[in-house]
Amino acid sequence: MEGKFRKPEGNAQAQSAGSAQKYVGASPAPHKVTTEQIPVEKLIEGVLNNNRVLLARAITLIESNSQKHRESAKKLLSALLPKAGNSLRIGITGVPGAGKSTLIETLGLYLIKQGLKVAVLTIDPTSEISGGSILGDKTRMEKLSREKNCFVRPSPTGGALGGVARKTRETITVLEAAGYDVILIETVGVGQSETEARSMTDFFLLVLIPGAGDELQGIKKGIMELIDCILINKAEGENKTLAEKAKRNYENALSLLRPATKGWRPKVLTGSALYSEGIEQLWAIIKQFEKETKAEGFFQERRQKQALDWLKKLIEEGLLELFYSDEKTVTKYNELKQRILKSEILPTAAAEELLATFKQRL
Ligand code: GDP
Repeated sequence: MEGKFRKPEGNAQAQSAGSAQKYVGASPAPHKVTTEQIPVEKLIEGVLNNNRVLLARAITLIESNSQKHRESAKKLLSALLPKAGNSLRIGITGVPGAGKSTLIETLGLYLIKQGLKVAVLTIDPTSEISGGSILGDKTRMEKLSREKNCFVRPSPTGGALGGVARKTRETITVLEAAGYDVILIETVGVGQSETEARSMTDFFLLVLIPGAGDELQGIKKGIMELIDCILINKAEGENKTLAEKAKRNYENALSLLRPATKGWRPKVLTGSALYSEGIEQLWAIIKQFEKETKAEGFFQERRQKQALDWLKKLIEEGLLELFYSDEKTVTKYNELKQRILKSEILPTAAAEELLATFKQRL
């Protein structure tokens, strides 16, 4: 089938010139990097030695959409894969303003104090919709970004959510090979981004504010079935009573739902990211989760399922790309669409004809 299909070429540089500059003190900025200047072997060595500049460049290579860079990225990833898999991957979601970045900063600094290395990634598909990004448009995680045992990388910009998620998954592999113990993956409750974040994390946390009401916080039943824990944030002063009430309500609501993780009843706790309250308890819950699910084998089982789901997704995406990038198939598709509109053919027959055309092209 070689040569028949046009592979869409992305603009690597535009892709990698991401929103890092929006992060004050963020880990080495990836923009305007010409990755071909650095041989893959050097990038591999750099990642394994946790050289932050080379680590940032390795991620830039992964984020590139150019076919040429993909080849080098594959080499890089297959060399790093044997060293990956040892981190705890934690997803964090909640509406803007709930306190996610404040929590990541407080929790991240707490973990670094415990001697752990922490990486922060974001999945922010809003850039695709609005041209701006919800997570990146303000100064975030300022203190944490300056820590030498922390690596903060904003969401890759451009491209559909599927592309962003692919890059984030591969970036996790690179960060694990570099020795990061905890990877915090932040997302906003927009579209499918929560499902994506869940599909690449071990533990999923929802951050809420007391008294804001479910609708306001974009809480759907769907999200409640994805999470392992709720932190009711900003539980200070007058808010404390409200937060305790919310805690009981959410505990009740969760008890009626199927848990997201086999063998684990989702927990609800109150705390304050700003005043560093509840952080120790939150970490204790996460460690308890890790211990129990590893002992039962559910932790490993989920990781395996996630890897196979990822494979399936890539196959599906790849097939669609093949289909829509083949000129003859697309011409036929357009023809058939017109015929359907004129009631000359039913969609079922049209689909059969179209798929037959496509199969011949393979
Ligand atoms: P994000 O959009 O979910 O990342 O939310 P931010 O972390 O940016 O927080 C939004 C606002 O809430 C900021 O002004 C924070 O200082 C504030 N905030 C975050 N956590 C707390 C908290 O525990 N208590 C109080 N009072 N304010 C908080």
